[in-house]
Amino acid sequence: MELKTFKHVDYLWDETTASQLAGDEIALFLYRSNILGTDLRITNFGGGNTSCRTIEKDPLTSEETEIMWIKGSGGNLGSLKRDGVAGLYVDRLHALKNIYRGLEFEDEMVQLYQHCIFDLDSRAPSIDTALHGLLPFKHIDHLHPDALIAIAAAKNSREITHEIWGDEMGWVPWQRPGFDLGMQLEKCQKENPGIRGIILGGHGLFTWGDTSYDSYINSLEVIEQASEFIEEHLGKERPVFGGFKIDSLVQEQRKEQAALLAPVLRGLTSEENRMIGHFRDDEVVLDFINSHDLQALAPLGTSCPDHFLRTKIKPLVLDLAPDADLTDSDKVKEQLVPAFQQYRSDYQAYYQKHKHADSPAIRDANPVVILYPGVGMFTFAKNKQTARVAG
Ligand SMILES: [Zn+2]
Repeated sequence: MELKTFKHVDYLWDETTASQLAGDEIALFLYRSNILGTDLRITNFGGGNTSCRTIEKDPLTSEETEIMWIKGSGGNLGSLKRDGVAGLYVDRLHALKNIYRGLEFEDEMVQLYQHCIFDLDSRAPSIDTALHGLLPFKHIDHLHPDALIAIAAAKNSREITHEIWGDEMGWVPWQRPGFDLGMQLEKCQKENPGIRGIILGGHGLFTWGDTSYDSYINSLEVIEQASEFIEEHLGKERPVFGGFKIDSLVQEQRKEQAALLAPVLRGLTSEENRMIGHFRDDEVVLDFINSHDLQALAPLGTSCPDHFLRTKIKPLVLDLAPDADLTDSDKVKEQLVPAFQQYRSDYQAYYQKHKHADSPAIRDANPVVILYPGVGMFTFAKNKQTARVAG
């Protein structure tokens, strides 16, 4: 087998492991899902889904029928197991097109997926089911790679997609996942039968293949190409994030400042629920928080909805000098309270503006991500794992 080298993603396919699974399509599909989910540059924790298809005997008719096996609702690709998968009749998923009533009725479609279930031990099908189900491929990966989100969320995403992949890649504009988006993907592929994948504007990537290995390699190659494009253009027209505005403290001092500030921030973010904190000050964090563009970019927040589920729309940027005297915690707290009040009222206003009659209740209005220029990034959530994932 050809050995592939990748610079921007981890190639983890192990031929020995794969050969032991040979002949078991579902086992190979779980293996592929696990190694895709292991590299967080390929997809965010809990984000994305994968599918494969097999021919099974229908227990009611004894006839051979095509079944799609897809990651069900919840869970994480990196640890996906058989019990996290839903098995559905492909022909029934297509039949839903006959009764689909339009964008206003997306919620009823999720209920109808239950009627398409073949495997009675299935995990609940997710809202992404139709995105896979209406495409004609045996193996499909839907991922949120960092490099692809950068391209998918760009203003000229469609043009960049064409510049990198020419006619080999489809592109559909942002749309909330649901049955209609599934039909848009189907239409895009039918109109461009030679494509190797589809970019979802503001969202992520769809790639596919005839085997688990083909699908895996196709995904890796597309992410590698996107990463190379970004690397080639990085800092060419202007420095990344407008260049540095401030210098970081040296690492030891960053840790000291972080240790002094962490309890104060934890107190402030625990106003509604007790929170656990996580701190990072690695290079990618410092590149952003020390930049000229921080004040302009931070309020724009994350570019992919799958991320802001965990991070909230925007981080809170502290107006605090890197070497500020933090020894008097009461004084520091007093100084930071107005920024937290402002953040909470912004979040409440955002919720009120966008809520629908059936929206869930407002969540904790406190910031999850707190940036301290020159020092690092704090994240707060209900436990360490969630705080780390938000970071
Ligand atoms: Zn997605």
